[in-house]
Amino acid sequence: MHEFVYQASPARIVFGSGTLKRLPDEAERLGLRRLLVLTTPEQEAQGRAVAKLLGTAAAGLFPGAVMHTPVSVTEQALAVATELGADGIVAVGGGSTTGLGKAIALRTGLPQIVLPTTYAGSEMTPILGETADGVKKTQTTAKVLPGTVIYDVDLTLGLPPGISAASGVNAIAHAAEALYARDGNPIVALMAEEGIRALAGALPGIVEEPRDAEARSGALYGAWLCGMCLGAVGMALHHKLCHTLGGSFDLPHAETHTIVLPHALAYNAPAAPQAMARIAAALGSEDALSGLDDLLERLQVKRGLKQIGMPAQGVDRAADLAIANPYWNPRAIERAPLREVIRRAYAGEPPRADL
Ligand code: NAD
Repeated sequence: MHEFVYQASPARIVFGSGTLKRLPDEAERLGLRRLLVLTTPEQEAQGRAVAKLLGTAAAGLFPGAVMHTPVSVTEQALAVATELGADGIVAVGGGSTTGLGKAIALRTGLPQIVLPTTYAGSEMTPILGETADGVKKTQTTAKVLPGTVIYDVDLTLGLPPGISAASGVNAIAHAAEALYARDGNPIVALMAEEGIRALAGALPGIVEEPRDAEARSGALYGAWLCGMCLGAVGMALHHKLCHTLGGSFDLPHAETHTIVLPHALAYNAPAAPQAMARIAAALGSEDALSGLDDLLERLQVKRGLKQIGMPAQGVDRAADLAIANPYWNPRAIERAPLREVIRRAYAGEPPRADL
């Protein structure tokens, strides 16, 4: 028998190719006339083009967003927003730029329009992670939800194939954990399965031909669905581990997710057979773990945390940290098998479902 609570997040979604040109109308619709455009330093040129398109509705550009949303950067951006008298935010970029927009919105209440250029999914969630004094803290509040999200497939065409693959698997991770979430529900399960299907179908084509617009469209559609899953239900072991590893050893976000996902799913598989069956169906394979392994091989992604900068002595520290704060997971968290999960992910060894 079904029994669930479903909370939808209010957002207006504009999706397609060339949808960037609708930004001035979307700003007008919200009554915004002095927008501050945000980007990373790497995407400054994209930000300038967006500001040019906005014309007199652009108050300025802050091209200083960086990974993990440091509060010091937010303070700089806030000073610029105040000086310019900004009445809204346009974030053009991946999770790092969206995070800065959310951090500004939290402190000022300024409305946000987000133009996502990766598959991280932050634009669809009420979650904000911020870093101060080397510690990343996450909070969930509707105050950071963007009001309008413009997905323009064209903005993703230049995302390098390696980052595209890792970012896409980051999105798949949101959907996979949504399928066994404690507060899961039928709508989220539908979105999760469809999101995994769309991304698994599109990502190999992107790695082969990064400017394949059809494949890019499929991946961005999947990322939207997976972002909604992340925004709607609670995450478990996989996200907890990635948060701990990323924060403790300053590892790149999407690559960490890509390496850890098969191991976290292998740990949880015995306790979540229905979720595994739905993941397998979405991947078009006999079983979830081999289907994911096949996909990762086709995407030619890195498979060991040691390849992305984790130190060998970090295995024990990560295990200690991951069990320090109790959190819900479909399978009880025990130190010995969890340490083995982390060790295997560190070494790049195949996952084991019998730990
Ligand atoms: P990112 O935003 O850091 O982008 C990675 C790099 O790719 C940057 O240099 C960026 O400028 C560049 N880039 C992005 N799009 C590009 C494009 N189309 N063409 C060329 N270069 C492009 O990476 P990310 O993985 O999207 O975001 C990671 C951050 O987002 C982390 O801090 C993570 O914690 C956060 N995040 C938050 C949530 C949430 O719900 N709060 C969800 C997912 C990720």
